[in-house]
Amino acid sequence: MGIAEWRGQLERGEVSARELTDQHLARIEAVDGTLHSFLEVTAERARADADRVDAARSAGESLPPLAGVPLAIKDNLCTKGIRTTCSSRMLEQFVPPYESTVTERLWQAGGILIGKTNLDEFAMGSSTETSAFGPSRNPWNPERVPGGSSGGSASAVGSGECVAALGSDTGGSIRQPAAFCGVVGLKPTYGRVSRWGLVAFASSLDQVGPFSTSVADAAELLQVIAGEDRRDGTCLKAPVPDYSAALKAPVKGLRVGLVKECFEAEGLDPQVKASVLTAAAQLEALGCELVEVSCPRFNDGIATYYVIAPSEASANLARYDGVKYGYRSEQAASLAEMTARSRAEGFGDEVQRRILIGTYALSAGYVDAYYKKAQQVRTLIRRDFDAAFGSVDVLLTPTSPTTAFRFGAHAEDPLAMYLADLLTIPANMAGLPAISVPCGFDDGGLPIGLQLITGVLEEPRLLQVAHHYEQAARVMDTRPSAALVP
Ligand code: GLN
Repeated sequence: MGIAEWRGQLERGEVSARELTDQHLARIEAVDGTLHSFLEVTAERARADADRVDAARSAGESLPPLAGVPLAIKDNLCTKGIRTTCSSRMLEQFVPPYESTVTERLWQAGGILIGKTNLDEFAMGSSTETSAFGPSRNPWNPERVPGGSSGGSASAVGSGECVAALGSDTGGSIRQPAAFCGVVGLKPTYGRVSRWGLVAFASSLDQVGPFSTSVADAAELLQVIAGEDRRDGTCLKAPVPDYSAALKAPVKGLRVGLVKECFEAEGLDPQVKASVLTAAAQLEALGCELVEVSCPRFNDGIATYYVIAPSEASANLARYDGVKYGYRSEQAASLAEMTARSRAEGFGDEVQRRILIGTYALSAGYVDAYYKKAQQVRTLIRRDFDAAFGSVDVLLTPTSPTTAFRFGAHAEDPLAMYLADLLTIPANMAGLPAISVPCGFDDGGLPIGLQLITGVLEEPRLLQVAHHYEQAARVMDTRPSAALVP
């Protein structure tokens, strides 16, 4: 059931917010022992909030847009009074004294916090395997990863533990897990959504966005979280359009660009390729014109990202010094040793690897060769997109080169793991909005996602095309049965 439909039922008194919340809490009870989507379930608060929504309805008050909707929040978004760990020992006991802008807006809109979800430590990873608290599992096949870094949010939505969720996307962390878990995942334009209260990873790339079971629901969530915030200096002042209304406009005549380099990419699974090309043909049947476009720098995104993101991360994570925040080692004889030990014990291997790479790339003598060069390539990637949008309205690619992989598949080879982000990173580099929508299943029954990308602030167009595709293709009607998917 979608958010709009649920709102109608609630308004007519056909179902109560308490019933919806209890239903989802029961679902969590039943499946989260296997999936481990959640680091913390806020059952008591959720029931109390649901009761308040029901009381407001009984009193005849008009209900806000997300009234009574159970939502899960990635555990790198600060929730006042509720632990926010980033799946790191470093923040294991951190209870934020303030609320992030996005979550504050959700609660003001009547949304109900059902729990905080698992992620790769500090959002660095593509599988949730770097979480200090154990990985989450894929609801379609628990022997597979849910993707990452927002894996817990994706598995929670995919398994019906909540109606929708928030994640963050620095290089693909919303879209890739959405593709792996058979749900919709949207990364908005950089600056469309406030980052205030999102624990910083790579500040020029980080963006918060929704997970949902339909494009219409993603539009509902974006409506609530988007818009100016004076607490985030990079947040755009542009007015927020009516996203739900934008879904309806016909797509006939729109030009859809198939990015040549993506379909020729190394390591692209033939089943993923075939499924995304079938989806392109479906868009053509809806009246879109398919155009092949070239973005020659697309595949340089990864190399560029793995200089820029770790550089920013090394600066952002300097604040965890054992003094002001988080974990402090008690073993040390001096202040310097205390900081060194706190960081060595508090951060996991992947986080330490990123800090080392970033510190190296920014060090005197190397900064021009690495960081500056990466920034230049970043500009070229953006220019490729600008050129492509000169001739098409929206770009189409697979979201991830493969479907969900097995646990440990890339354990020995971090570079192989980094390749999982090949197709998602360029949109972050250029600050563009992008969405992943389910488009089929491989012969192992695992979901496949397609990615659509549009120009800056063109979320209305992005959601419109995604919605029309989703409604025409009805991919979920063809889904194989899976024990943990409703
Ligand atoms: N998987 C990528 C990384 O490890 C992207 C993470 C993200 O988007 N937060 O950095």
